[in-house]
Amino acid sequence: MPFDGGHCKRRYTETKYFYKMKDFIDQAKKNGINLLDKGNCQFCGAQFQKGIFECMENYNKGLEHIDFNHSENHIYRFLSVDAHALQHPEIHGRWSNHFHLTRLNLILEKNINWDYKTSPLLSNYLNVYKEGRPNEFLNLPKALIRGTITTKEFIEVRTTEECVKLIKKWAEEVYIAWKENHSIVSQIADGFLNKKDNQHLIHRKTTTR
Ligand SMILES: [Zn+2]
Repeated sequence: MPFDGGHCKRRYTETKYFYKMKDFIDQAKKNGINLLDKGNCQFCGAQFQKGIFECMENYNKGLEHIDFNHSENHIYRFLSVDAHALQHPEIHGRWSNHFHLTRLNLILEKNINWDYKTSPLLSNYLNVYKEGRPNEFLNLPKALIRGTITTKEFIEVRTTEECVKLIKKWAEEVYIAWKENHSIVSQIADGFLNKKDNQHLIHRKTTTR
């Protein structure tokens, strides 16, 4: 089952980290990618010894400093999931990349106050959107040129403030690395925001974080 399945799965990915090891191995195989278990991460360049496998294992390290019992902190979960997913697009279904990049556009550029209720709405929107677009692919930025911040940097983080700052920068860097696709996801985001059923459920931020 690819990552871009139903929103139950997506909820799981955001609360508990992505998905099981087998899922990303299967997805890489489907994309014709050979996963390397030695050296730096082949996708983001993080300096590890066991490649992508260590990159995945370390994903949660920095997040341990954030208290996700407070809903105002949930945004950092969304941003970090999006940043990591988009630094490793070859181990996701192609529509997952649409999801994560569109969400970054909505959060970073359109100031949407994202929460757990909004993710399934976007997922549902994309499920309809993709039906008429069998040939729509995003242009993946070249591996290793997807932002300088990686999971490795989070190992050194000691405080909540440091972590929050790093996550924001991470998401921004990765978003910029995908700039070739900004116009397409911006249009998807507009369609999503303009959908009548969504309008009363989605809110823009009133204050800066
Ligand atoms: Zn990596």
